[in-house]
Amino acid sequence: MIIKTTLLAGALLAAVCHAQNQPILGEDTVKVSEHVWAIMGFPNIGIVVGRSATLVVDTGLGPRNGATIAKVAKKLAPQNKLYLTTTHFHPEHAAGEPGFPAGTILIRDKVQQDEMDQHGVEMINMFAGRSEQQKELLANVKLRAPDETFDKEKKLDLGGGVTARLLWFGGAHTKGDELTFVEPDKTLISGDVVQNKVVPNIFGAGGTPASWIAVLDQVARLGALHVLPDHSAIGDGHMVEQERAFIVDLRTRALELKQKGVTADDAGKQLTADFKAKYADWPINNVTGFVRSVYAE
Ligand SMILES: [Zn+2]
Ligand SMILES: [Zn+2]
Repeated sequence: MIIKTTLLAGALLAAVCHAQNQPILGEDTVKVSEHVWAIMGFPNIGIVVGRSATLVVDTGLGPRNGATIAKVAKKLAPQNKLYLTTTHFHPEHAAGEPGFPAGTILIRDKVQQDEMDQHGVEMINMFAGRSEQQKELLANVKLRAPDETFDKEKKLDLGGGVTARLLWFGGAHTKGDELTFVEPDKTLISGDVVQNKVVPNIFGAGGTPASWIAVLDQVARLGALHVLPDHSAIGDGHMVEQERAFIVDLRTRALELKQKGVTADDAGKQLTADFKAKYADWPINNVTGFVRSVYAE
């Protein structure tokens, strides 16, 4: 997750991420489902363990975090071959790759790799500029080419009947958002695409509110029972419908105001107040960023 408005970034991150903005990951895991573990932090990391191979989803911010995750993955299954994928190209999700051991097989969707090639280094520099700690964590990060890319789907057989489907359904938070669906657990590792009561955020030239809804329609067909998002709490399959309903609601209201000639900033103010009241259990600080994305569609 990246917040566009620098002025609000501190307040928003504090509200949205709770304790999840601590950039150094620990080694504690939470069991999400029979074959899926998570390290909860900035961001949450998914670890899918089959009989012969393990898939890690996301790297943490910089190599030190990547090394921590690789250590945890090895503890869970010492003999397993290691796959790594990333939910999107932002540095807390992808820039820890150099911390993984040689021989780790890196796979991501093509659209995400294109974004990485175009903006990966720029984003690392932006994050490194945020604090001394982040600068240190991101020092000398060299991004490497993936071992494999895919268009829409890559199925990984992790052994013992465990399959991870790596999926690209279209643009949402970024253009290249990747989702991982683990069978037989029916666990969805959802990145920023499905979150637990977090105001959605479209970064730069990412997707659009409409394309995000179209992505969620495809996600809904997976029939997930468990959802591990990247910047919020673990939940059940209901999170997919909850995310869709929120985006549809906010988009519909924003389009009404646009039609009446209300400016995006005024619509943002009005809808922030309305949505704070309507979604009282969501930590909503500001919906203006998403309203601007609706206006720009
Ligand atoms: Zn993020
Ligand atoms: Zn992000």
